[in-house]
Amino acid sequence: SENAHLSVVVVGASGDLAKKKTFPSLFNLFGLGLLPKDFTIVGFARSKMSDEEFRKNISKNFKEFKDKQEEFLSRCFYHSGQYDSEQSFSEVAKILKEKEGGNSANRMFYLAIPPSIFAEVATAAKSVAVSENGWNRIIVEKPFGKDTESSAQLSRDLATGFSEEQTYRIDHYLGKEMVQNLLVIRFANSLWEPVWNRHYIANITITFKEDIGTEGRGGYFDEYGIIRDVMQNHLTQMLALVAMETPNSLSAEDVRDEKVKVVSACRPISPEDIVVGQYDGYLDEDEKVAKDSITPTFATAVVHIDNPRWAGVPFVLKCGKGLNERKAEIRVQFKSNPGIYAEDSERNELVFRVQPNEAVYYKVNTKRPGLSEEIAMSELDLTYKERYEVRLPDAYERLIYDVVRGDHNLFVREDELDAAWKIFTPILHKLDAEKVKPISYKFGSRGPEESDKLIHRYGFQRSKSYQWGPKSKI
Ligand code: NAP
Ligand code: NAP
Repeated sequence: SENAHLSVVVVGASGDLAKKKTFPSLFNLFGLGLLPKDFTIVGFARSKMSDEEFRKNISKNFKEFKDKQEEFLSRCFYHSGQYDSEQSFSEVAKILKEKEGGNSANRMFYLAIPPSIFAEVATAAKSVAVSENGWNRIIVEKPFGKDTESSAQLSRDLATGFSEEQTYRIDHYLGKEMVQNLLVIRFANSLWEPVWNRHYIANITITFKEDIGTEGRGGYFDEYGIIRDVMQNHLTQMLALVAMETPNSLSAEDVRDEKVKVVSACRPISPEDIVVGQYDGYLDEDEKVAKDSITPTFATAVVHIDNPRWAGVPFVLKCGKGLNERKAEIRVQFKSNPGIYAEDSERNELVFRVQPNEAVYYKVNTKRPGLSEEIAMSELDLTYKERYEVRLPDAYERLIYDVVRGDHNLFVREDELDAAWKIFTPILHKLDAEKVKPISYKFGSRGPEESDKLIHRYGFQRSKSYQWGPKSKI
């Protein structure tokens, strides 16, 4: 079915995600020549819009490939209807049939809608809008529930229309360049894998920091909080790739089997291993945020993996909004080397900077240059924009491309999702039940001090002498 027509239905086409990510990514894939020759895109939502208004709306975020814009938009249509209506979805199917012209066709349903309506959409689409002579796939977005039980319910809801094989759960961190690089750096270099264990690694920190607040999405955020919004999904996915055993192959099922294994080996977070915070001003920022909200905007948690490779190695997950900088990184801190330099050297660290400005660097002890015999910490550095002249695709481009190709590698399988929820569900329920008040921290700071204390308790050592910058005078 290589030459089959591709029909894409974006459900919730009037929304923020569709406008910001889905349509620009589809367009860029077209610009790069990666969509099938024949394709049709139909946007669907309740809002009323003409095709022309729709095209104008979605193209606002198109930045590249200007000369291809018109051709792309001529294949985009809009249809307004109700999410629970078979009538509406059969109208969509009618548009698709006409464009497909009787040829074999594959259909992709992108649900850019709140999860509360997944079930009705999946059911209606399944009964009247799926292709009968090609594949059918459905793409869904976080939040996948609020805890183990609601997530399982959501999976059951989706399963009324689509099988696991047809389902693609997006965690867009898996689409990021540096996250994919984790496997290559780990498994393609003889330097790292032999030391990737409790004998050599002291701790691993996975960090997500934002320097902004909830930016108009306060209503959504207040209902979920940072643990559900970032830690249970993005940080846990990165943890899985950093910590998993070598998969038997790079096939999606082999990779996901290993991820499930390591995530299932993570102990649920215990109350002494978590610090939650809320930045000052959060309660007044958005009228949809409850005035007495105890939703955390910051959290640091220590995860313990009960397997032979990682026994005793703390995995620190740290995430927050309203902090001093925007970054996402994975920091692997090695144990010190005993012997003649033990006193004067600092711990090696391998850092994957996921965003912004992708880089991998390794902090090393070197001889201080010059006549001195002292040690100075420096780095072996690979900064992508210095090293490569290449267009790095947006995570969504890669992910949508993979759905078109039927590659499940970068999507979250149901058992993986379940295992990830089991790490956090008990502590989330406890925080809610006991109405634990998050520690207040200053907007623009590094978060509550209690977080650094927790991390130090687990043996993290921050390098004291390291300086970064070209032509450092040391
Ligand atoms: P959104 O703008 O709130 O909703 C998308 C569309 O769904 C709306 O335009 C609206 O269309 C319809 N809709 C909204 N609330 C509804 C309700 N209660 N009942 C029925 N229809 C409703 O959401 P979004 O920000 O685009 O996000 C879509 C999905 O992706 C959500 O699950 C969200 O959590 C997830 N997500 C979003 C982002 C992001 O950056 N925005 C990032 C990651 C994940 P009509 O009124 O025209 O029908
Ligand atoms: P760093 O920014 O010094 O952070 C190292 C660790 O120390 C992080 O876990 C950080 O936690 C923590 N930390 C930061 N400030 C602290 C404080 N006041 N008290 C306690 N803990 C603190 O990172 P680095 O790797 O040593 O690098 C230093 C600088 O050089 C960074 O700006 C880095 O981007 C830059 N650099 C860039 C490249 C490159 O572009 N290729 C290469 C090497 C270094 P939080 O994350 O929670 O703040």
